[in-house]
Amino acid sequence: MTISLNRWRLVFHYVFGPVPSRRLGRSMGVNVVPLKYCNFNCIYCQLGRTRYLINDLRMFSPYEDIIREMEAAVKSRDYDYLTFIGDGEPTLYAGLGELVKWAKENQDKPLAILTNGAKLTDERVRDWLSNLDVVKVSTDAGNERVFRLINRPHREVTFERFIEGIEKFREVFHGQIWSEVMLVRGVNDNEDEARHIGEALRRYKPDRVYAMIPTRPPAESWVKPPESNALIAFAKNLSRYVNSDKVFIIDYVESGEFHVDKSDPLNGLLNILRVQPMTVEQVMNVIERNKLDPLILDSVRSLTKEVTFNGIKYLVYSSEHD
Ligand code: SF4
Repeated sequence: MTISLNRWRLVFHYVFGPVPSRRLGRSMGVNVVPLKYCNFNCIYCQLGRTRYLINDLRMFSPYEDIIREMEAAVKSRDYDYLTFIGDGEPTLYAGLGELVKWAKENQDKPLAILTNGAKLTDERVRDWLSNLDVVKVSTDAGNERVFRLINRPHREVTFERFIEGIEKFREVFHGQIWSEVMLVRGVNDNEDEARHIGEALRRYKPDRVYAMIPTRPPAESWVKPPESNALIAFAKNLSRYVNSDKVFIIDYVESGEFHVDKSDPLNGLLNILRVQPMTVEQVMNVIERNKLDPLILDSVRSLTKEVTFNGIKYLVYSSEHD
């Protein structure tokens, strides 16, 4: 499908960045789900608590509108990955298959998705995602009890079904499955949980495993990152189940350049902030590097709240503006 731009300037709502990604380099994001529709309600979520805990596919917006933005962005922006993402869970978007098809046919950069993986129980979703290059799934728990504690999933999503869905996907998918394990102090950062999670990972054989800690303000204020020795010990324990050269530790905030469209910088910044809090420093860097009006920082501040987490000040998009 080819959709031409009309003569008016396109205002981007869905496509943002590229933004620096700790795993994907310069990742240009396509945000397909409004705040915060998700089938999980993770205690560490950087987008806050889930507002709409759903597990059915929905056509949140016409896929033609998203393709129109993708068409403009892939021609004008420099990126390493085109990444499907959501202000919630992107696989809940019923038009995702159309977007993947368009991206496969109309641009040549690798395609990724950041998903929790729970919708891989659905054959349609497995089919859409099988055309991607990288599918990042979450595995923060190795049993039902910790799964309910940390991910607080929709009642239809049980731990066993969740892992079975990823296993079925592994059978048909020839690209890379990257698994993310978010460690929360006192919840899943001990030796027992490393064993349970390791056993779950062994079932679907990820190509990489990222042991991570919350670096941005979490949904629940009591969530804390594990002690640094606990993170290293956890990664070592995981290596009993997954080859150690596949296990990576990520315990830092990414650095690098955020791209915003100079003709509409405030909108560009807000589109990034909708999917991830930025540090005050990151926002100021964007303003300085692009020689933007410094008053933009005031506008960003009026639409966000400042939250300090781990000694770093973040600007968190305020959901009451949606
Ligand atoms: S971290 Fe991801 S999966 Fe978990 S609640 Fe947030 S958006 Fe949903």
